[in-house]
Amino acid sequence: MRAAVFDRVGRVRVDELPDPTVEEPGDAVIRVTRSAICGSDLHFLHGKAPISSGEPMGHEAVGVVEATGPDVRRFGRGDRVVVAFDIVCGRCWFCTRGQTQLCEDFRNLGAGVFGGGLPGAQAERLRVPVADVNLLGIPDDVGDEAALFVGDVLSTGWYAASIARIAQGDTVAILGMGPVGYCAVQAALAMESAPGRVLALDREPARLALAAGAGAVPIDVTTSHPVTAVAEASGGRGADVVIEAVGSPDAFETASDVVRRGGTVVIVGMYAGETVQMQLGVWWARAIDLRFSGVCPVHTVWEAAMEALRAERVDPLPLISHRLPLADVARGYELFDRREATKVILLP
Ligand code: ZN
Ligand code: ZN
Repeated sequence: MRAAVFDRVGRVRVDELPDPTVEEPGDAVIRVTRSAICGSDLHFLHGKAPISSGEPMGHEAVGVVEATGPDVRRFGRGDRVVVAFDIVCGRCWFCTRGQTQLCEDFRNLGAGVFGGGLPGAQAERLRVPVADVNLLGIPDDVGDEAALFVGDVLSTGWYAASIARIAQGDTVAILGMGPVGYCAVQAALAMESAPGRVLALDREPARLALAAGAGAVPIDVTTSHPVTAVAEASGGRGADVVIEAVGSPDAFETASDVVRRGGTVVIVGMYAGETVQMQLGVWWARAIDLRFSGVCPVHTVWEAAMEALRAERVDPLPLISHRLPLADVARGYELFDRREATKVILLP
């Protein structure tokens, strides 16, 4: 099979590799029908996270089951499935409590030796361990490209909105209109207790236009101050709920500046070694509820996200800016890295 593999820092190439096979009783092998490039793949491209030369990249894919091990009960040959970007055991203390992102045997596809050493999804075929847990069936009336988002960014946006405790009529401010922020906008608007309005903050006009198309009020932070703009939209109080989908100390500070007293801040943007200075007395006196999502426990929310997709309450397809054959994956990474692409879909 062909697969997109890490070549060296800044470069991805396509290699011919042996087809994956069932190695453990819970495995499934799927024929990939669509995969995608994700923001976290860039950490490997840039050498910020280690992956060996020749290792297949990527963790977002949908496909058709081709083979299953003897322990696989829920899926069989020919089933259309989406793959969870985090691969978990389904049996440990954390998994049985729905906190699959904290699994004792947590692995990511295509994330190098420290990510569990599993080959990535930007390939013609993919081995998925513990398939009964890490695959979700795709309903007949949901297309492959829409379902692909359920394995990662749509479920992540959905999770961020669902732990934000949005109440009817709330003003929700979402910082960062990357794919997760955009999906959080849609998820917030689709929640049963619908917010009064969702404010979308970003600095890029194209991303703001996408958010406006999804029903958010766009706020361009290069032309209006976030604190003033959010205050004006919320009777001077500040946002009831802030979802920070950037993952930078600046965005963290903005979140604390735009939330109202007694409001909720959900941090879904990814952090690693960054530090911030927090004046604890301010957070304490303002009674702010600060929640870190961590990696999305995709297994606990993806059924709800898939159902929202099927019911057309959310639609991630406007995020797709490019569809490229797997052979052009290097160009896909370049476009995405230069932020000329919002989402690149790869066709095997
Ligand atoms: Zn991803
Ligand atoms: Zn587990």
